[in-house]
Amino acid sequence: MTLSDMRLLRNQQSLARLNKALPDPFPGAVLHHALTRRWTPPTPRLAIDSYWRTHPLRADRLARALAARNGAPEGWTWRLKSDAEADLPQSFRVPPAPFRETAFARGPGFCCVCGQPVYRLGWHEDLWSRGPNKNAIWHTACVAAWQLWNAPSEQAILLRRLQQRRCSTTGARLWKTSEVDHRVPLFRVWRDHRDTDWPTLLGYWGLPNLQVINRTAHTEKSAAEAFSRRRSIAAA
Ligand SMILES: [Zn+2]
Repeated sequence: MTLSDMRLLRNQQSLARLNKALPDPFPGAVLHHALTRRWTPPTPRLAIDSYWRTHPLRADRLARALAARNGAPEGWTWRLKSDAEADLPQSFRVPPAPFRETAFARGPGFCCVCGQPVYRLGWHEDLWSRGPNKNAIWHTACVAAWQLWNAPSEQAILLRRLQQRRCSTTGARLWKTSEVDHRVPLFRVWRDHRDTDWPTLLGYWGLPNLQVINRTAHTEKSAAEAFSRRRSIAAA
């Protein structure tokens, strides 16, 4: 049996399993995605996982929109770990997530990233009128968004394509060694923008603050900044 015969057979079996388990209704975009995969996901849950993993930028937009529905909990401010509060993030590189902190967690059935109810299959809308899923604390979309926010370099191919393979600082063609960069560096977000309201703050980890630049352009830019700093010191 050739690989393509094997794939055909596996996909027929997976499709039969998927159709049997498919709840009604099921999001059309996810179903379309599942049916056009090289390997058909055999369960609705895997179909949804695959959809958001393939579309992390959509997940990013959705997670921030969901978070905006409730805003930050009363009394929350962005703080980093101290001895007294062990469950806070250790670094300003971790996106601020109030509902992941013990003091503000909403418990089972609510997403620990955006704070909104989680429904069947980790979906963000109650398509099946069953109410929140008490066994879940993540939307499937928010898992994908969280991964993008914490490791944007893993989406370099997608981000390069979005910039039509042009360096966002020089406009030159992007090389293979180009790097994903935060337009406003995260240390500066913590230093200068930490009082920005949540979830607007999350935009600094999402697409609005991500760019791909050539490594050489990055180095030249840093050198030029250092040079102009030295000149202004000398002039003074
Ligand atoms: Zn969520």
